[in-house]
Amino acid sequence: MEVHIQRCEKCQSTAVTNLLVRESGQPQTVYVKCVSCGEFVARYRLSEYYHHGEGIESWLRSQGSAAPESGRDFLGEFERVKTAANEGFAAANARLEEQQQADEQASPSESVER
Ligand SMILES: [Zn+2]
Repeated sequence: MEVHIQRCEKCQSTAVTNLLVRESGQPQTVYVKCVSCGEFVARYRLSEYYHHGEGIESWLRSQGSAAPESGRDFLGEFERVKTAANEGFAAANARLEEQQQADEQASPSESVER
C-alpha cells in the first residue's frame, strides 16, 4: 500500500477542500480545491462514497437514481461500506505514519540541509 497527501501543484499547499457534486444519474463527483490559492487540484468521480457520521439516507443519495427502485440489500451493503471505509481510513493513516517515520529514519538531516 502507498499513501499520498494531496498537494496543490501550483503552490504546493496541502490545505485543500472538497466540493461534492451530486447530479441524478451521474456518479458523485468531488472537485478538490486549494484553500491557499484557490487553484483546481483534482477531480474524483466516485463509484462509491462514504461520509463518516452520515447515515444510510446520505449514502443512498450518493448511489444515484438507481438505488431506490432496485431490490438490493442496501442496509447490509451500507454496513459493509461503513466498516470497510473505517478500516480503510485507519489503515491509510497507519501507513502514512509508517512512511513518515521511514522517511525520517532514512534521511534524518535532510530537512535541515535544505
Ligand atoms: Zn495552491
